[in-house]
Amino acid sequence: MISRQNLAADTHSASTIDMKTIDPNRYERQLAMPEIGEAGQHTLEAASVAICGLGGLGSAASLYLAAAGVGRLVLIDHGAVELSNLNRQVLYGDDDLGARKAARAKERLARLAPSAQLDAHDAVIDLASASTLLADVDVVVDAMDNFEGRHAVNAACVAHQTPLVHGACAGFEGRVASLLFEQGPCLSCLYADPPTQDGPTPILGATAGLVGAAQAGEAIRVLLGVPALAQRLLLVDTARWDVRTLIVKRRMDCPVCGVGSADGE
Ligand SMILES: [Zn+2]
Repeated sequence: MISRQNLAADTHSASTIDMKTIDPNRYERQLAMPEIGEAGQHTLEAASVAICGLGGLGSAASLYLAAAGVGRLVLIDHGAVELSNLNRQVLYGDDDLGARKAARAKERLARLAPSAQLDAHDAVIDLASASTLLADVDVVVDAMDNFEGRHAVNAACVAHQTPLVHGACAGFEGRVASLLFEQGPCLSCLYADPPTQDGPTPILGATAGLVGAAQAGEAIRVLLGVPALAQRLLLVDTARWDVRTLIVKRRMDCPVCGVGSADGE
């Protein structure tokens, strides 16, 4: 885990960090990016990110976070791999059917990032468990498929003041936001009345992959101190390639983060 002070710091200020553990071949293409470089790569290596939900969004997000060199991933899901998952949950294959997702995700990601610390939790995420599961991470990725779990994660992140990268998709449409709680909003501000869910959500796998990859990219930007979607909600309609962002702000009457907020408006 990296300190909150360093989380928000300018990446380029970390010039005194010991560089010897970075593999220059593995991360060659990131080290060449001025926005990352050696200091940024060390920031990622020292970072800890939780992925809540290892389905379509969580598959893409965890693969790209592991590939980018994030040092520790906390993998949380309480499901088994089903045949109907495989159109979008690219962590798994036919030989994983019936297996627990958290364990198989850990195996898959270890092949991609053998030096990463991968903590797998076959656990239900609810109000009772979220605070403990998410206690010591720098960023949380919300890749869940139900609002009960999402709101438990949100409450834990507000309590711990941990940045939450929200993602959701249905059909050809997706959305992503960085919820940075010192300035708001939180997930409950965005969804005062969570949509009701009647049966499985129709999803094209490519849309889930797009949103999950966007979440990984945004989580990395949060870790580097340069979030692109703070107080903005990205909306993508891949049926028409309509991409836009909405300004989103804290609701003063939000039951989770709004009461007594000094900077809410
Ligand atoms: Zn709120």
